[in-house]
Amino acid sequence: MIIDDLTRIDTSLIFVDGHWTRPQGGTLPVEDPSTGDAIGVIGRGTPADVDAAVAAARAALDGPWGALTATDRGRILTRMSALVLDRAEDLAMIETLDVGKPLDQSRRDSVALARYLEFYGGAADKLMGSTIPYQQGYTAYTLREPHGVCGIIIPWNYPMQILGRAVAAALAAGNAVVLKPAEDASLSALVFAQIAHQAGLPPGALNVVTGLGAEVGAALSAHPGVHHLSFTGSVGTGAGIQRAAAANAVPVTLELGGKSPQIVFDDADLDRAIPVLVGACMQNAGQTCSAASRVLVQAGVYDEVRRRMSDIFNGLVAGPAPDSHDLGPLVSSRQRRLVQDFIDLGTRELTLAAQGRLHPDAAAGGHFVRPTLFADVPSDHALAQQEIFGPVQVMMPFADEAEALRIANGTEYGLVAGIWTRDGARQLRLAGRLNCGQVFVNNYGAGGGVELPFGGIGKSGHGREKGFEALYGFTRTKTIAIHHG
Ligand code: NAD
Repeated sequence: MIIDDLTRIDTSLIFVDGHWTRPQGGTLPVEDPSTGDAIGVIGRGTPADVDAAVAAARAALDGPWGALTATDRGRILTRMSALVLDRAEDLAMIETLDVGKPLDQSRRDSVALARYLEFYGGAADKLMGSTIPYQQGYTAYTLREPHGVCGIIIPWNYPMQILGRAVAAALAAGNAVVLKPAEDASLSALVFAQIAHQAGLPPGALNVVTGLGAEVGAALSAHPGVHHLSFTGSVGTGAGIQRAAAANAVPVTLELGGKSPQIVFDDADLDRAIPVLVGACMQNAGQTCSAASRVLVQAGVYDEVRRRMSDIFNGLVAGPAPDSHDLGPLVSSRQRRLVQDFIDLGTRELTLAAQGRLHPDAAAGGHFVRPTLFADVPSDHALAQQEIFGPVQVMMPFADEAEALRIANGTEYGLVAGIWTRDGARQLRLAGRLNCGQVFVNNYGAGGGVELPFGGIGKSGHGREKGFEALYGFTRTKTIAIHHG
């Protein structure tokens, strides 16, 4: 089977304590989203497997992994980065088959994984505490210490990028990790474990337990041996994980959903803006937490922006992976149904501005939807408020800056916002007032930017991943005051 050739491992196994072991729950099917066909299996972990993984992580901290210097941890991550680049093409193809994304997107994802490892490998020995001017006769300072065992639970939309940003930062800071990938997309995480092993990561420093959220994810988030949880996924699951963590008083980083706006003013450089307005939502078939799913346009250029965006949408093609069509299928039949329901609702209640088409090769069993643009959408409509997580974008007009701000801030989410204007004072004013974790002015780069801290407010979550800032989240501060008379 092609998956075996690409992964070069038995994907029905999980990775615990440096060994490939058979999980106690049997297997789960792996499906190709472009066809709906079964293309392999992954292991179905159980709470007992989570126990073993947490114990292995603890032992690694008390043993060889905990004994390494920060510099040596960084060197291992740097070696992992090189090995990821060596396998980048395999990893990209694996991700494409597993998630359905076009191969050029998966190639960017595998390079991003290598970049995270490079960035945090280099940062490992630059994480410092500080000295504190305290009372006479004292020397006071802080240390940045790892939490211990980190449970990392990730979704299926960008498995390599999300595991890269979380696992690399956690390991750089000296934690041991139990990683639970999404059941819809676990293969790249297994290959990542193989690469970590080859790079010399000590046994137990990284454990990968595949399986269902309600089984493996729930056991990991409630485990008393876990000291920190990092979760990326849906709002409902995140809230449950925070409740489970509360029972053990464990800190949690939550990266949840979004309904991110791009705000286009009359003076914007439209030639630069228009492709980004569309691309920032259509990327990965809209299955992106930071997808710019709302486009707010000032009245003076609204008709022109609508026409030009519609022209792009009318030419978009969703087709099967690995060919690089504009969009691939959605990840699962469940996701396709959710998104199609939104499209049907919008078609009944809103103005359908434009729709792309399906490629003739898009198989009936594949999870395809047509990329869809709605215009003149009221800001309180479900399609303007709820995360769709598919290739669906809504446009709405605004009169002035105050109205734009009210609409932009008018959802429960607060992940990313884009501003398109040449007015420097307005750029600064709005960037300060938008309720979100990241603002991009005259660009929208949420997908890239390993260096840029990323995270949300409100229902988009809390805590920051990416950038140097992530290392603070994966460490705790210890304060030491020495009295020397
Ligand atoms: P999900 O919450 O269903 O699943 C995410 C992960 O949680 C999976 O590994 C799943 O197995 C696990 N899980 C499910 N139930 C669990 C439970 N009871 N206990 C513990 N773990 C459990 O989300 P999804 O559908 O896979 O992903 C889509 C969502 O993720 C969207 O809302 C999207 O916006 C969000 N997302 C956010 C970011 C970000 O960085 N903010 C990035 C990607 C995706």
